[in-house]
Amino acid sequence: MNPNSATETHLRKRTRTDNGLGDEKKIDKICEELWFEDGNVVIASVETSRHLFKVHKSVLSTHSLVLRDLFALPQPIAAVQTEDTYNGLPLVDFPDSPDDVRDLLVALYYPTKLVCRRNRRSTFKKVTGVLRLATKYEISALRNHIRNVLDLDWPSTFEAWETNEFATNDMIGASEKRFTMASKLPNSSEIINLARECRITSILPAAFYNIARIQESDEFDGYFKHDYLNNACYRKSEMDDCSSDDLVRIIVGRESLRRHSWDIYRGTRTWLYSECAFEEDERRERCHLKLKEWWTKTAGECLFVMEDLLGALRMIIGTMDEDLSNEVCLECRRTLVGRMKEQQQEIWGLLPIYFRLEAPPKVPKADPMDSESDE
Ligand SMILES: [Zn+2]
Repeated sequence: MNPNSATETHLRKRTRTDNGLGDEKKIDKICEELWFEDGNVVIASVETSRHLFKVHKSVLSTHSLVLRDLFALPQPIAAVQTEDTYNGLPLVDFPDSPDDVRDLLVALYYPTKLVCRRNRRSTFKKVTGVLRLATKYEISALRNHIRNVLDLDWPSTFEAWETNEFATNDMIGASEKRFTMASKLPNSSEIINLARECRITSILPAAFYNIARIQESDEFDGYFKHDYLNNACYRKSEMDDCSSDDLVRIIVGRESLRRHSWDIYRGTRTWLYSECAFEEDERRERCHLKLKEWWTKTAGECLFVMEDLLGALRMIIGTMDEDLSNEVCLECRRTLVGRMKEQQQEIWGLLPIYFRLEAPPKVPKADPMDSESDE
């Protein structure tokens, strides 16, 4: 995000030799949106230019213990111009990118600008720098807010995951430009890398599941391969940016899900004979045969053609009544639906194990900053 690029002003030229950028003349840029007349500290962030923000120690200290401690250190004497002052005010170099610093300060001074739309890659871009620095400078409230935003797109419960699946598909289905809309969805690999950097471990299982269910042949456009759910669309995800460790996790997780898929298929075929509302042997037999036939063909296709096992189970549940209501008793159908729903919950619970992720802590700790440990 760069809310202020149009208003940045070239203030003065200055040679800096201590910023790792050599002896080139660097241009100072004042961020007018974050340049308060009564500010009492100047924050500098250097990239190709030096970006300056005149803000308030009290405001930053209110939000961040780290910055409060920093400002509590002895400040340079205002009357003496040194590398550590700017027009008489203490000058603090932040070793972070100007965009990140600007995004953080905008979030603190203009919180209503941090509007986050669900299931949008633009939201990821908007919150990344803020989350990074909120984590680094221990700004708990802001960090928790962004974690909640990310949790909506990458939830930790199966029910929330399903709700989001339908919401995503409805959004793309309603769009006239579906390819364009699909490309606006958040990208799993970006989310995974950010979650690792900022220790937001709760969103990892959903993000790994999303990236693992995409077949390589889907990658050209990232959506529309299967029609199990309206005009089913996946959230686009490239694996190029994943670390080698995470690529292994994706491969191992995908294999575990395939094995689970086979276990469901085989286990259910055996189990089908155990439940039926009919008492007459002949009717029971007919019910079971129809169910077995349907399971072997239709359910088998769903389970083995799709990499998305949760979606395959959703499709099995959704099509069962339509396909079988005239031939299979209600009891058999209900029991099978119950079994599929149990499987969805079980799979969801196993994702951290399948993808070799750390299990989340069972009891939340008192300090919200410590609630996602590095264990
Ligand atoms: Zn039956």
